[in-house]
Amino acid sequence: MEKCTSCNVELDQDFTKFKCPNCGKATIVRCNRCKSISKEYVCPACGFIGP
Ligand SMILES: [Zn+2]
Ligand SMILES: [Zn+2]
Repeated sequence: MEKCTSCNVELDQDFTKFKCPNCGKATIVRCNRCKSISKEYVCPACGFIGP
């Protein structure tokens, strides 16, 4: 089960998954809610904070 990187909610559909734009190593997962309000996420690998 994927978890939203921003709010930690469990996701089974309607989420976005992408590599960290800074380090390219970690996978960032965001639910639609966090995406729509541009909630910040923190990369678990490098600590990059991004919208
Ligand atoms: Zn979320
Ligand atoms: Zn990173």
